Amino acid sequence: MSLAERIEALRGRIARACDLAGRDPAAVELLPVSKKQPLALIREAAGGGFLRFGENYVQEGTAKAEAAPDLDFLLLGPLQRNKAKAALQSFREILTLDRPELAERLRHLAGELEVIRPVWIQVDLWAEATKLGGCADADLPALLDALGGDPRLPLQGLMAIPPPGDASAFTTVAALRQRLQQDLGLPLRLSMGMSGDLEAAIAAGSDQIRIGTAFFGERA
Ligand SMILES: *Cc1c(COP(=O)(O)O)cnc(C)c1O
Repeated sequence: MSLAERIEALRGRIARACDLAGRDPAAVELLPVSKKQPLALIREAAGGGFLRFGENYVQEGTAKAEAAPDLDFLLLGPLQRNKAKAALQSFREILTLDRPELAERLRHLAGELEVIRPVWIQVDLWAEATKLGGCADADLPALLDALGGDPRLPLQGLMAIPPPGDASAFTTVAALRQRLQQDLGLPLRLSMGMSGDLEAAIAAGSDQIRIGTAFFGERA
């Protein structure tokens, strides 16, 4: 399948899922995940109108951001403290804010660099199940405190990678979003759903699906 054919097939899946959920497909952002994909394919996608790409690794994302300064790269992978500065320099948004120390570090560096970087809190409501990073429900207040409503790191929403095959996990995240929106008095978006489970994520109200293999094909 060509890139154009895969994108068309994806649009079909998104349209059907939105139809079933009574949602507007235009309200669901399709974020291509370009980790381990060559720049040439990213360029081809950009030709089709995609200007934002998810990347998992700071080093790989930095190289791509330098080679394609006209595109926006968003960080989807775990962020170590010692890579926080590079991440703020290369990525437009950070979706994996998951602990107070990282929030403090990012605030300090964003002030120093004088940049504004929208952030998403990655939540892990399944504890031991995934081990892919993420803030537990009970630890959210401390993380929000550390973030302190800093205008340099505007909070966009919640990002989650639920355990595969557990569709009810998406509704758990959606319920947390509702609760936090009320507590904070802020609109929050939901980033959840990947190639294998975008339908369940859209049904639960996801605003952004992050699609790697179904968009670009198998990774190298
Ligand atoms: C790799 C990755 C994706 C995309 O995964 P696919 O299954 O290839 O669609 C989405 N989100 C995160 C955080 C990822 O690491």
